Amino acid sequence: MAVINILSPHVADMIAAGEVVERPGSVIKELMENAADAGAKNITVELRGGGATFIRVTDDGCGMTPEDAGNCFLRHATSKLKDERGLEAIETLGFRGEALAAISAVSRVRLETRRAGDEAGTLVEVAGGDILEMEPAGCPCGTTFTVRDLFYNTPARLKFMKSDRAEGAWCVQLALRVALGRPDISVRCIRDGKEEFFTPGDGKPASAVYALLGRETALSMLPVEGENEGVRVRGFISAPAAGRGNRAMQYFFVNGRAIRSQALQAAVEQAYKNNMLTGRFPACAIYIEVSPGAVDVNVHPTKNEVKFSGEKRVFDAVYYSAVNALAGRAQPMEMTLTRGTEKKLAPAQPEPPAVRRQAPGGYRVQPPAPQTVELRSPAPVYGASRLVEPVWRQPIRPAQESFAPKVPAPASEKTPKEEPAESAPLPDIKAPARLVGEVLRTYIVAERGELVLLIDKHAAHERMVFDRLKAAGREIMSQSLLAPQTWRPSREDWEAIGKNLPVLEELGFELEAFGEEDFIIRAVPDDMDPGETVPALEEIAEKLRRGGGDLARDGILQTVACKAAIKAGWDTDPQELQVLVDKVASGEIKYCPHGRPVAVTLSRKELDRQFKRIV
Ligand code: ADP
Ligand code: MG
Repeated sequence: MAVINILSPHVADMIAAGEVVERPGSVIKELMENAADAGAKNITVELRGGGATFIRVTDDGCGMTPEDAGNCFLRHATSKLKDERGLEAIETLGFRGEALAAISAVSRVRLETRRAGDEAGTLVEVAGGDILEMEPAGCPCGTTFTVRDLFYNTPARLKFMKSDRAEGAWCVQLALRVALGRPDISVRCIRDGKEEFFTPGDGKPASAVYALLGRETALSMLPVEGENEGVRVRGFISAPAAGRGNRAMQYFFVNGRAIRSQALQAAVEQAYKNNMLTGRFPACAIYIEVSPGAVDVNVHPTKNEVKFSGEKRVFDAVYYSAVNALAGRAQPMEMTLTRGTEKKLAPAQPEPPAVRRQAPGGYRVQPPAPQTVELRSPAPVYGASRLVEPVWRQPIRPAQESFAPKVPAPASEKTPKEEPAESAPLPDIKAPARLVGEVLRTYIVAERGELVLLIDKHAAHERMVFDRLKAAGREIMSQSLLAPQTWRPSREDWEAIGKNLPVLEELGFELEAFGEEDFIIRAVPDDMDPGETVPALEEIAEKLRRGGGDLARDGILQTVACKAAIKAGWDTDPQELQVLVDKVASGEIKYCPHGRPVAVTLSRKELDRQFKRIV
């Protein structure tokens, strides 16, 4: 029979270490969190190679007494929790008292620490969990942990390490997350003697986002702000046109702690529904504040996941804040000047976007630093239009009843419904949008106050049709084809369409299987150009093959809208163009259903600059 052994604390530590310290990056995260908990204002992180041979984290926090400097390496040694009552509302990043025990069990650690009032500090050397040396030492206020030879005594672990490049990048990534979560702390990260990043620690998320995610990303972001049932949300999300190829730039923080959460990812992404190209993902840095009692951080040793009591209200808070950010203050219109001009205008040392604190503590991005204002004209935000939705017809119909809106409202009668967002510098909002003309049979040129608008007529119309179809819900009208049409799709398309006939019918298509390989098409949605029936169905089949549900529904509507919209290259009546101009100028239409901007603006200032009237 096997005999039960009680493992020595040392072996237990080594086993536990595997959970807390998976990779060198985990060491960086834990040491930085400790520094933050110690009240540090400045943290320096240094590493060599992939971090396994050398990591050093220096802080100017509260430091430790000689006694604590010895005890901190013991398992369950923590100053952050006294009893189980404390566990219900954790206000620090650490609380489990196992990070230092775990790290020191599998590496060689040197600790130097001194409290502000103390004459001398303390030096402790630990290897494989054993204290080798402990003595008074002269050192600056605060704490420095140096971790060498990680996993030297657990060769099995070492084998799982990736290349230095990969591990080093992961270290920097984790340092970045901690730094982003705490904009109030200035963090400097140095790898192999080279500075990887530096955050100013001015408490402004915008500065942290700017420093950590880079100028390009930061400038494409929209401020987010909101509150729902005690859940406060702020931060930044990217403009729909600035989607990325993956989710690597999605950051979530709960009370300053970087977390991963599929639910929150979904909340943000849903806000972009129909405004972002499929396969593209928004970047975001979302800061959530809830009372510590409403969030359980004790889910996993790495503390990367949390449980909310009432996840729905957190989800809603994030979702609606993002929706509002996208609807209210979007800046879809971005004018890119020629490369040379942009270079000249770009600041040599990019300044972080200015942020103004607002009662009751919300953040708003001010128009970016003057040098960048020239490059980006905020979209006019005039409040939603009250225009009665015009009825659009396809050019295949007789010309007389073609595109003209049934209820043409003179643009000059339009008054903004509500005051525009106060921080957007607006041109004269009373000025009507005047249609100037069309160029390249593709772009509408219009003028409003001091702004020149260039509108992609297809994209704008596509959006308009899409919104109307969506609003119509189940009542989408269909038009019977003059003669039913037979269609023989590929085998896969046949199946995809065949399985979704009810949805298609709901959306205005009428078709039935004919034999084993064909469909007979009798009707298509009213707006659609019947000449586009087959290409539309092929596109829809492809979308259906990728998945069903609401997304497929929207996908179908997108296709219908696309096939219903006026196209580049077509002749379009000026009256029709005017309707689109009004829709765009009113702020009602900003992006096409695929997330591309429908318009760009050009300000007088930009033009004057181009012509060197001003410098
Ligand atoms: P936890 O953070 O969960 O308390 P750790 O093992 O990470 O556990 O740290 C143990 C204790 O060591 C902390 O509770 C804290 O009292 C002390 N400590 C660790 N790092 C620092 C630091 N940088 N400055 C001051 N005290 C520290
Ligand atoms: Mg800790």
